[in-house]
Amino acid sequence: MRVFNFAAGPAAMPEEVLRQAAEEMLDWRGSGMSVMEMSHRGREFMSIHEEALGDLRELLEVPASHHILFMQGGGLAENAIVPMNMLGSRKTADFVVTGSWSNKSFKEAAKYCTPHLAASGETSDGFTRAPRRAEWQLSDDPAYVHLCTNETIHGVETFDIPDLGDIPLVADVSSHVLSRPLDVAKFGVLFGGAQKNIGMAGVTLVVVREDLLERALAICPSAFEWKTVAANNSMYNTPPTYAIYIAGLVFKWLKRQGGVRAIEARNVEKSKLLYDTIDASDFYINKVERASRSRMNVPFFLADESRNEDFLAGAKARGLMQLKGHKSVGGMRASIYNAVPLEGVNALVEYMKEFEKDRA
Ligand code: PMP
Repeated sequence: MRVFNFAAGPAAMPEEVLRQAAEEMLDWRGSGMSVMEMSHRGREFMSIHEEALGDLRELLEVPASHHILFMQGGGLAENAIVPMNMLGSRKTADFVVTGSWSNKSFKEAAKYCTPHLAASGETSDGFTRAPRRAEWQLSDDPAYVHLCTNETIHGVETFDIPDLGDIPLVADVSSHVLSRPLDVAKFGVLFGGAQKNIGMAGVTLVVVREDLLERALAICPSAFEWKTVAANNSMYNTPPTYAIYIAGLVFKWLKRQGGVRAIEARNVEKSKLLYDTIDASDFYINKVERASRSRMNVPFFLADESRNEDFLAGAKARGLMQLKGHKSVGGMRASIYNAVPLEGVNALVEYMKEFEKDRA
């Protein structure tokens, strides 16, 4: 029996994709081999790669000015790869810190430059808001401005993406890419790990504007230099072939759902159900300001935290899994990525109401 999986990542996959991968496991479309056994330079895998790139470009509406790269290293490696590719002769990069992930990016950048904290969303309740553009205090000549547009742990999402003109905006979109349309033209760079909305862990998405490929530091490893990776169509080193194949199946699935705008409407509905349930009672608490509440990661606390274990055990008994909050903040967190069906959120909300009624 399959459960409803509310994990933050690796996370729920569309069941159709898993079934298709299972069907094609031993013999991919008459090739007589599994995708993981194929040469990355062979005709079969090249077709899988090109199709995944094309579908992603269409889904994300990536303009011709931007390259799409499939890399390795995950979101955290990009915290080093970004400064090594972006600093050029500049000594500063600016950071908007809205939670744990952008804070990690800010700290890692100090190995390569003098990072400047342009704004912070930290309040006396922790990270609970995305500072508006008017609150950002940029330094004189930053190489770029870094933003994490969805903070997976704190459940803070940035909805208003400013236009920074000549200053490249770099965004960590790991945990909400493909959940809503993004105006890619406003960004110099987007990056993200795959294990939330793209597919399985192992492939890292980088979208980078062509003119930014000239800024890499000499110390940047060749395999992580975007210019080299782009010039070799993500095949400078062996790419994570199976993870790219799975991502390709997810992109096809998303197109069958109606694309990013259609999935956004469902994400709005799913997250509203959950936030409405939390807000309607004093039993559950979410501290994030309404305008910054993530549609993907919904952290919440029980007003009486002594009931936490009881809540999680009851959820598990109903097949509602992985609801425990990140250890750094505690409480609960429901991650409701694209692949989590509305029925899953309905089942969770039902359970929350019953749990409250039984314990009141
Ligand atoms: N950024 C964000 C927003 C994330 O959610 C995560 C992982 N949860 C990371 C970066 C780190 O990704 P990885 O573990 O793939 O390096």
